[in-house]
Amino acid sequence: MLRQYELVERVKRYDPDADEELLNRAYVFSVKAHGSQLRASGDPYFSHPVEVAGILTELRLDDETIATGILHDTLEDTVATPADIERLFGPNVLRLVDGVTKLSRIEAQTETERAAENLRKFLIAMSGDIRVLLVKLADRLHNMRTLHFIKSTEKRQRIARETMDIYAPLAGRIGMYEFMEEMQELAFCELQPDAHATIVERLADLRPAGENLVASVAEEIRATLAKRGIAAEVSGREKRPYSIWRKLQRPHAAFEKLTDVIAFRAIVATEEDSYRALGAIHARWQAVPGRFKDFISTPRRNGYRSLHTTVAQREPLRAEIQIRTREMHQEAELGVAAHWAYKQGVGEREPAAHYPWVRDLLEILEHAATPEELLEHTRLAMYQDQAFCFTPKGELVQLPAGSTPVDFAYAVHTSLGDTCVGAKVNGQVVPLRFKLANGDRVEILRSAAQQPDPLWEGFVVTGKARAAIRRYVRAQEREEQMRLGAKMFEALAGRLATPISDEGVAAALKRLKLADRAALFVSMARGSVDDTAVLDALVPGSANAKARRKPIAAKGEAITIRGLTPGVAVHLGACAPVPGDRIVGLRKPGFGIEVHIVDCSHLSEAEERDEWLDLSWGVDAETHTARIAATVANQPGALAAMTGLIAREGANIVNVATRDRDRQHHTYVLDIEVENLAQLTGIIGGLQGAPGVVAAERARG
Ligand code: MN
Repeated sequence: MLRQYELVERVKRYDPDADEELLNRAYVFSVKAHGSQLRASGDPYFSHPVEVAGILTELRLDDETIATGILHDTLEDTVATPADIERLFGPNVLRLVDGVTKLSRIEAQTETERAAENLRKFLIAMSGDIRVLLVKLADRLHNMRTLHFIKSTEKRQRIARETMDIYAPLAGRIGMYEFMEEMQELAFCELQPDAHATIVERLADLRPAGENLVASVAEEIRATLAKRGIAAEVSGREKRPYSIWRKLQRPHAAFEKLTDVIAFRAIVATEEDSYRALGAIHARWQAVPGRFKDFISTPRRNGYRSLHTTVAQREPLRAEIQIRTREMHQEAELGVAAHWAYKQGVGEREPAAHYPWVRDLLEILEHAATPEELLEHTRLAMYQDQAFCFTPKGELVQLPAGSTPVDFAYAVHTSLGDTCVGAKVNGQVVPLRFKLANGDRVEILRSAAQQPDPLWEGFVVTGKARAAIRRYVRAQEREEQMRLGAKMFEALAGRLATPISDEGVAAALKRLKLADRAALFVSMARGSVDDTAVLDALVPGSANAKARRKPIAAKGEAITIRGLTPGVAVHLGACAPVPGDRIVGLRKPGFGIEVHIVDCSHLSEAEERDEWLDLSWGVDAETHTARIAATVANQPGALAAMTGLIAREGANIVNVATRDRDRQHHTYVLDIEVENLAQLTGIIGGLQGAPGVVAAERARG
């Protein structure tokens, strides 16, 4: 524990004008007030506020803030009164201590309204004085450092969760990354001890034996910069397990690939040197693409400035390097606190004038109508990657950034998502793929006739919406397959000499090892059991070539394409797909679905990929018009050979046009009716081998 004179000395070191008497008075008062209270660690309670004050000296804060640190728990936990504090330490310290006390009470409450009410008081206090928040964060940091002394698991978990959710992000938000990281680390260790242990172990594995990796890499960086005449102070560290773990939570992260575990910082003299140093580092080691960030020319919202890059320093290990000046560094380490420390020398600038975040809060305070609204808006400022939206009744729906009305609808209720047809945002009708923003009031328009649209999957961002849409589409597919399979079965059975009895079907199912008719229909529609096998099962020995060759589905039916909601109008695109082609659909408003071959040029030009509907051909008796281009030698009999071959293959020519014609060759574009891709391919192959035919290929469009 820090002694009285040590604490005073520390403050005096960075602030010679500090009020020594004030600090001594606060120290003595706090010792007396806390008396014989003990911490969970067994230490006298008083050690806690003194350590908090010690943390605040690291931020080089002024005497009033240090005194507040020492006194921060006296109002809450002792018999000391506000009048005592004001009399002994003045109105400023009272206001600060009171602010911290009010903020601390929020922890103990779960009821929204009261929590918000207290938060508002705190925020009002803070708005004039960010020091309240700094003391509170130091308080929380020390509590986290001593968390392991608390015996109740439940209490430890609650405190750790709260730290992770509220205080660590708060620290990050005002640029105090050191605080944030330490809090996260301690909370992570408490909340996920197994994950923490695994990563610590993995880190140990990655460290090369017999070498102080961090030290030697730091030395290499220093030498590289020195060669260019850049004096730099280089320090390095291993990344904290929590930041590594977070990275592992991202998509595609693999533990094996986790090589990004050391980080370095080069402090240089000037901004110009920062860029020169970056050049020297990139010249020496290969930069990892996409990792270079210039926060000097474009500072972060909280004012953070630095250059960031990652280099392949020692394969497979990568090193992250931050380059900045001394001044930038101090700001980065201490965030808002650094500005507060500077402020004294710079005159009476209010911190609110410099910090967009604080300014945002002030604005929220002025405009929030209810405590709930305030609380939600305050969280808005803290979680920028979230979109908080409201139902027409004012209920809050929390969504990830980029969410759409469909995500919103599913977040409220699955049935609302399933039946949504449109949305109004803040009273305006918007498309369903509209991106919601913080504070939007969203009204979902619904229709009982609506069904989830497979296209929605292309733009929703929440897992809940995606899962619901997929589930629905899968069910639809099965239904469609059942219907299709039933039709196929009917047609097949209709071609048998005698009607098939239920017993006959039951026997066939047994032979095919299928559970019931539904399973048979689905198998037939999917093509996992073919007609011959079904015929054979129905009437053993009956399968013949005739039954196989004839079209199955009834003539005159619309083309069957799987992957579509039944009843949607379908048109074939200009690329003239035929069954067998890999196809996708484009939705044309007011026109239905237009089907294209997957590599059709129309697709790439006109549409975004995520708007494509994945389609496949169903069983189909219809003929399709395909287009081929054939170049024939200008000689007697060549044309006849070509048309004869097409006729023999069982296809009709519906249209012929001449494309090119010279003395030697004629090129024809033929539209021919075929049943499927196999037939078309057969015809083209035949033409290519036919006498007098120089070239034959499929023509598109
Ligand atoms: Mn405390």
